[in-house]
Amino acid sequence: MKEEKAFVKEITPQSEDFSRWYIDTIKKADLMDYTPVRGCIVFKPEGFELWERIQEAMNKRFKETGHRNAYFPMLIPESFMQKEKEHIEGFNPELPWVTEAGGEPLEERLALRPTSETIIGHMYSQWIQSYRDLPVLINQWANVFRWEKRTMPFLRTSEFLWQEGHTAHATEEEAREETMQMLEIYREVVEQELAIPVWKGQKTPSERFAGAVDTYSIEAMMKDGKAVQAGTSHYLGDNFARGFEIKFLDRDNTFKYVHTTSWGSSTRLIGSMIMVHGDDRGLSLPPRMAPTQVIMIPVGPMKLREQVMQAFDPLFDTIKASGIRVRADLREETPGWKFNEWEMRGVPVRLEMGPRDVENGQVILARRDTGEKITVALEGIVETIRNLLEEIQQNMFQKALAFREANSHLGIDSMEQLASHIEKSEQDNAPSGWVLAGWCGDDACEAKVKEETKFTSRNIPFDPPVRKETCICCGEKAQHTVWFGRAY
Ligand code: AMP
Repeated sequence: MKEEKAFVKEITPQSEDFSRWYIDTIKKADLMDYTPVRGCIVFKPEGFELWERIQEAMNKRFKETGHRNAYFPMLIPESFMQKEKEHIEGFNPELPWVTEAGGEPLEERLALRPTSETIIGHMYSQWIQSYRDLPVLINQWANVFRWEKRTMPFLRTSEFLWQEGHTAHATEEEAREETMQMLEIYREVVEQELAIPVWKGQKTPSERFAGAVDTYSIEAMMKDGKAVQAGTSHYLGDNFARGFEIKFLDRDNTFKYVHTTSWGSSTRLIGSMIMVHGDDRGLSLPPRMAPTQVIMIPVGPMKLREQVMQAFDPLFDTIKASGIRVRADLREETPGWKFNEWEMRGVPVRLEMGPRDVENGQVILARRDTGEKITVALEGIVETIRNLLEEIQQNMFQKALAFREANSHLGIDSMEQLASHIEKSEQDNAPSGWVLAGWCGDDACEAKVKEETKFTSRNIPFDPPVRKETCICCGEKAQHTVWFGRAY
C-alpha cells in the first residue's frame, strides 16, 4: 500500500510507459481503488460519476427508442447456462459459482451472471404467448462477473458494471433492425458525448458472442494505438428462443420462435475515455462527460481577496444557475497548485479571477484541451462559457480522430510488411496502431495473424476507407476488409 501511495505522487509520462501512466492517472485522480478481490475494483465517487453521465446519455436514447429498464436476479441456475451449447462453452471458463448457501450445499450450482440471456430467456418464455406480446424491449443496468485472466481497471475487470439490452421480436428482419439501431446508439453516445471516434462493423466468427448469429461492435483507438471494443450488439437469431422455448402464436395461427437481440456496453467506456483524451498532465475530460465543467479559482494577493470575492461569489451563482457544472476552489493553497490539481483531474475549463479582472469587468478562461488562456468580458459570460465548452468538445473529438487517422495503416498487405511495420514501430517507440487488411474468411489465417503479430481482428467495418483485394495472410482473394490491431 505504501509503495502505491508513493508512485502516484507523480504521473509517469505516456511515452515512457503508457499502462503505468494510466494507472498513475486514475489513482491520482481518485477514480478507483483496488480491493483484496482480484480484478474487482471500487468505483470511487469521482469515477462513478463518470459512469452516471454515461448512463444518463445511454438511458435517454434507450427510452426514446421505446426500451424500458428492469432488473433480473444475479444468480443463474447451472441448468440454464447449459441450455445454449455455445453460450456455456464460451462462458464456462470465466464463471464464478455459488455452491453453498444458508450453511448447506445447494442442489444446483448457481452462476454469478456473466450476462443474462439465459435467465431473461427463461422469463420471456413465460411472458410471451402471442404476437400481441411482441416486441419486448427491456434493458437492465447491472453488475456482471467474468473471471478474466488479464485485468486492467475499468477496461477489463472481473466484476464490471454495464447495461445489457434484451429484446424479442416476431421476425428476423425486425430483430436485425434492432441490432443495428442499438449499435448506432452506441456510436452516437461514444462519438458525440465521449468524443471518441469509432468504427462500426461486424465481428469475425471467431470473435462472435457465444450463442450469437452475428455480433457487431464499435471499436476505438487508444492513445497507445491499441484497440478497445467499446460496445457490442448481437443478433441472436432463434438460438436462445429454441433453448428456452420462447414461442408465440402468430397472426397466421401457427407457433413460432421469437428472434432475440442483446447489446451491452460497460464501465470499460470510462477507461477508454481516459486513454483517448488523457495526457502527461493527467485526465482530460470531454465537457459533456465531465462531472465538473468549470473550476473557478480566485487569484491575486490575499490582501485583495475579499474584494475579489465580492464579484466572484455572484459570478459563481450565475454560472451555477445556468446549469453549467461549476465548482469553486477556495482552499488555502497557491493558485499554481490548484491549477495543476484541476488540470490533472481533467476539468475542461478553468476560470481565474483576480483584482485587475474585477476592475476591468473580465475573467480569464483556460482550456484544458489546448492549454490556451483567453481574457473574456464578464458580460455574457454564461454564453461565452457554453460556446467554449462546445468548442472543446468538438476539438477533442477532432484531435482523437486525427490521431486515429494518423495511426491507421492502409497500405500493409502481407505478413512480411506487417512484421516490419511492427518492428519499426517498436524501434521508434511509436504506436503500431491499426492495419486495414484483406481477409479470405478462413479462421486459420486470422489465427495466424494473431499468433505471429498479436494483432487481432477488430471488426469488418461497414464503411472501410478502402476495400482490400487480397488476404494479408495467404494472399488469396479477400472476402472481407478488416481492421487488425492489438487490443485491450
Ligand atoms: P459482450 O456481452 O461480451 O458482448 O460484452 C459487452 C461489452 O461489455 C463489450 O463490448 C465490452 O465493451 C464490455 N466488456 C466485456 N468484458 C468486459 C470486462 N471484463 N470488463 C469491462 N467491460 C467488459
